[in-house]
Amino acid sequence: MPRPIQATLHLSALRHNLARVRQAAPDAQVWAVVKANAYGHGIERVFDGLRAADGFALLDLDEASRVRALGWRGPILLLEGVFEARDLELCSRLGLWHTVHCDEQIDMLALHKTHEPHRVFLKMNSGMNRLGFAPERYRAAWTRLNALPQVDEISMVTHFSDADGPQGIAAQVARFEEATRDLPGERSLSNSAATLRFGGDAAAKADWVRPGIALYGSSPDFPAASAQDWGLQPAMTVSARIIGVQHLQPGDSVGYGSLFVAEQAMRIGVVACGYADGYPRICPTGTPVLVDGVRSRTLGRVSMDMLVVDLTELPAAGFGSTVTLWGQASTGAVLSIDEVAQAAGTVGYELMCALAQRVPVVVAD
Ligand SMILES: *Cc1c(COP(=O)(O)O)cnc(C)c1O
Repeated sequence: MPRPIQATLHLSALRHNLARVRQAAPDAQVWAVVKANAYGHGIERVFDGLRAADGFALLDLDEASRVRALGWRGPILLLEGVFEARDLELCSRLGLWHTVHCDEQIDMLALHKTHEPHRVFLKMNSGMNRLGFAPERYRAAWTRLNALPQVDEISMVTHFSDADGPQGIAAQVARFEEATRDLPGERSLSNSAATLRFGGDAAAKADWVRPGIALYGSSPDFPAASAQDWGLQPAMTVSARIIGVQHLQPGDSVGYGSLFVAEQAMRIGVVACGYADGYPRICPTGTPVLVDGVRSRTLGRVSMDMLVVDLTELPAAGFGSTVTLWGQASTGAVLSIDEVAQAAGTVGYELMCALAQRVPVVVAD
């Protein structure tokens, strides 16, 4: 029998979350962002749950090829555009739309030989200071692109730095609008946080929204709002079984470094999940888990292949009990990945992307 741990992907949750995003921005088309192998879920595994999207956005050319190989004939957008000139050949061959964020990419396009002109998304750096042309340089880039026979339609794109925080998007929207006001073409501004929080605002909605994390059922602005608050369902469940039980006396400790010391008699369960499965080693005592659907907590240090949970209040639980590390228990109880991420001092994105190769994945409806 294989080691009793698995990840379950819920296609119905992906479909639900996509519908939820559409509801937040009803007039916009939706790019399903599937970069980083669909945030660790696996592009091929989630495709059926996301095929109702209007397009797929990602940044690895290999992943773009994989989406085409699944039979997707609709739009695919490269969020970082091309990295070298020969990438443009793949864009021509597979009909990929690509972001243009710097002069070097325009230089490459100007030298590219293609029968089919490309659809490009010209990116503005409206304050994130990652990729894109500064607002005062944007128009010149647009004019240069517009003069190229290699270019068909030019759309406009920017990315928010604080869509999930108190600062919000107003300043960046204003800069973007000011610099693009009289330019023709479609616009795309919003990630998950901006779509859910400001989707009803015409400025943030534009023609295309680009949700990633919300599709996978994690809240983009936890803990201000939870996935449940946003009406999102977890697309990934990681569960494992209890493979051993111990009884502690006061003063007994648990695991490496003896970080947890019992103050009273306790019953603990050893779970077949550790940091080599993608569970963060940094999660301290008290990180939430579900044992047979009932909330409990971890104890002591997470080891490579195991972690320990408190069974003191759960007399019916024992060897073979199912522990949900995040996601949905068979009872219907939910433990959001965001709570575990918070205990690890990170975000749900990082946990889902870090699911280890060795964890078997089951795709459910
Ligand atoms: C990753 C990414 C997104 C999606 O962001 P989420 O926070 O996951 O919704 C949107 N746009 C760009 C440019 C991205 O890189």
